[in-house]
Amino acid sequence: MKETVLSGIRPTGNLHLGNYFGAVKNFVRMQDEYNCYFFIADWHSLTTCPKPENIVASTETILAEYLACGLDPEKVTIYMQSDVKEVLELYLYLNMNTYLGELERVTTFKEKARKQPDNVNAGLLTYPTLMAADILIHRALKVPVGKDQEQNMEMARKCARRFNNIYGVDFFPEPQSFYFSKEAVKVPGLDGTGKMGKSEGNCIYLKDDAATVKKKVMKAVTDSGPTAPNSEKPEVIQNLFTLLNIVSRPDTVQYFEEKWNDCSIRYGDLKKQLAADIVSYTEPIRERILEFSSDRSRLQAIAAAGAEKARESARKTISEVRHIIGFRDL
Ligand code: AMP
Repeated sequence: MKETVLSGIRPTGNLHLGNYFGAVKNFVRMQDEYNCYFFIADWHSLTTCPKPENIVASTETILAEYLACGLDPEKVTIYMQSDVKEVLELYLYLNMNTYLGELERVTTFKEKARKQPDNVNAGLLTYPTLMAADILIHRALKVPVGKDQEQNMEMARKCARRFNNIYGVDFFPEPQSFYFSKEAVKVPGLDGTGKMGKSEGNCIYLKDDAATVKKKVMKAVTDSGPTAPNSEKPEVIQNLFTLLNIVSRPDTVQYFEEKWNDCSIRYGDLKKQLAADIVSYTEPIRERILEFSSDRSRLQAIAAAGAEKARESARKTISEVRHIIGFRDL
């Protein structure tokens, strides 16, 4: 039996190179090896934005982009969180066994409460129990997460353990964080420092056309050039080489490394090459994004089929949970 892996997906925005090389590419690789559930976390988004505009359109955009990257709905279960109502029942049971103090101590709650002092809602507080319900509803063993989610993962394990202890069962496995380790790369931004990220405004999106990619890359921050042979690269330049390493052929990287080392590098040439190599990587994905996006009924059918598969697994869990607690099964 394949192990079950589950990952939530942010419901808005577009995928950028950081998402692709840091996460999505690995999801695609995992689909043959694991029993994968990927869901678009539209309920979670209500904790910060109670009246999302066009939530259906934005979740469909995200779905189209993940499919364009190679997630195969025949192999993975990809669905909208709000399509699986069974999650809410589990969320309720988990909330009954979770204490105010431990929820208030979660760092992401404290941060968000600081960011939106006028809307410190119960959903924000119980974000970790909804996340635990998303995971436990499929009794998933592995959850690919960023380091910032570690505390939420600990809460999910606590929820599983506590349920098992209270009812004297060994029903929920404790889900483990899953790091892609060697395969995961940190994709830098084009503004010289830090990583590529939506809130940083330094992204190249998979949907960007060739002209947009070129414009963004040509504007990337550089310096005045190396002053001595074989010198260490400052961060702004290293970032360009990191991107080159990700998208270009090894001999291209080698060529520019040599140019750097003998101080004959011309950043304009490097950027042109980088832009061209990004485009050849993203162009086929972009075409598939356009293809999926132009066929809403296909996207809706994929989402409906995903929801049905997810609900089948969720119903089984809820039925057993009701039995364990002592409720009549529906
Ligand atoms: P976000 O869009 O910020 O919710 O990111 C979703 C996931 O994409 C993260 O958990 C990371 O795995 C991955 N990711 C985002 N930005 C980067 C980046 N610049 N480099 C590598 N991975 C990234």
